[in-house]
Amino acid sequence: MPIDPVELSRELIAFNTINPPGNELGCITHLEKILAGAGLETSLQHFAPDRANLVARTGGAGSKLPLCFTGHVDTVPLGNAPWSVDPFAGEIIDGKMYGRGSTDMKCGVAAFVAATANMARQLEGTGGAVLVITAGEEIGCEGAFHLARAGMVGRAGAIVVAEPTSNAALVGHKGALWLRLTIKGVTAHGSMPHLGVNAAYKAARVLTALEAFQFNVAPHPYLGSPTLNVGTVRAGLNVNSVPDLAEIGVDIRSIPALDHSRIQEHLKAELGEDVLLQPIVDVGAVWTDPSSPWIRDVIEITRDVTGEDPGSEPRTAPYFTDASALTPALGNPPTIILGPGEAAKAHQTDEYCSVQRIREATDIYSRLAARWAASE
Ligand SMILES: [Zn+2]
Repeated sequence: MPIDPVELSRELIAFNTINPPGNELGCITHLEKILAGAGLETSLQHFAPDRANLVARTGGAGSKLPLCFTGHVDTVPLGNAPWSVDPFAGEIIDGKMYGRGSTDMKCGVAAFVAATANMARQLEGTGGAVLVITAGEEIGCEGAFHLARAGMVGRAGAIVVAEPTSNAALVGHKGALWLRLTIKGVTAHGSMPHLGVNAAYKAARVLTALEAFQFNVAPHPYLGSPTLNVGTVRAGLNVNSVPDLAEIGVDIRSIPALDHSRIQEHLKAELGEDVLLQPIVDVGAVWTDPSSPWIRDVIEITRDVTGEDPGSEPRTAPYFTDASALTPALGNPPTIILGPGEAAKAHQTDEYCSVQRIREATDIYSRLAARWAASE
C-alpha cells in the first residue's frame, strides 16, 4: 500500500511536539517505522530525553551523492489566542488541513517521506536519497547541529528543505546571530546612587551605539542588507536600588559575505570591553546560485506541477532553516527551500496547510528524486 501524504500529515500533527520541550521521540519513531517498513536504512540520534533526530537512506550505490530532503517535526507553542479547531486533530475543512505544525512543517515532512518511501525500490542502485528529519529546529536548529557535529549526515549532492513556501522554489535566506549582551554595575541604595555604578546608564550608552551600528558591507543582490534589532532590554530589580546588571537581547540577520565571528569582533570593538557578548543563536546565511543546473531543474519541475509562473527574479525566504547547519555539514551542495506550507500561516493560531499543496509537493519531490536517480 502506498503511503498517502495527507493521511501521514494528519498522523504527524497528532503528536504534540511543541518546543519547548519538544518530546519529538514518538513522532520520530513513527516515521522511522514507516521508512524502515518501506525498505530505507534508518538511524536515530538521541540527543536529549524524549528527543531524537532521524536519518534514513535509500539507494546510495556508486559514486553519485544522494539527494537530501530535510524537515523538522517540532512546532512552536499554541500561543495565547484560543484555536477554533483542535490543534492536534489534523481536521480538513474546505481543502485545508488544520493543526499546529501543519504548515511549519509536518505536511512538508509527510510529503517527502511519502514520496521517497513510495519509490524506495526505484531508487535502489542509484545515488538515491537521504532523509534528514530533525527535532529541535524552532530554537536555533539545535537538532540539526547535533547531527552535523556527530558527522551523521554524510555528503549530499543537493538539498531540499521542505519549509513552507507554498511550493515556490526559494534559493536562500539570511543567517541569524542572536546575542545576549551583559553589562555590569555596582548596586547601592537608591537614596545614595553616588555609591553605586548604574548598569542601566551604561546600557543606555550601549543602546545608542547599537542604534548607530553600521555593518559596512555591500548589500547582497537578493538577500539585501544585514539588519540589527534590539529585542529586549532588562535592568534593575526594584525602583529603590542602583541596578548592578543590565541585559540587552540583539537579533542580527546576516548575509553570506558577513562572517558571524567578524560581526562579534566588530561589535566588541564598538561597544568596549565592559560589555560581555554571548551568542544565543548562531546560524549562517544560505545561498545557492540560481543559475546552477539543478536549481533550474527544480524550477522547471515546480512550474510543471503547480502551473504557477516562478517569475524571473530569484526568491528568498524571510526565515532561517536547518540548512544553516546542514548545508555546510553535507558539503555545501545546492540548496532549495520548497514546501507545501504557507509561510504566512507559520506560528499562527489556526495554522493550516492546503491539501492540494501537500499533493503537489509530493509530486514535485517524487519527480526530483526520479530525475536525480536517472541522471547518472
Ligand atoms: Zn519550520
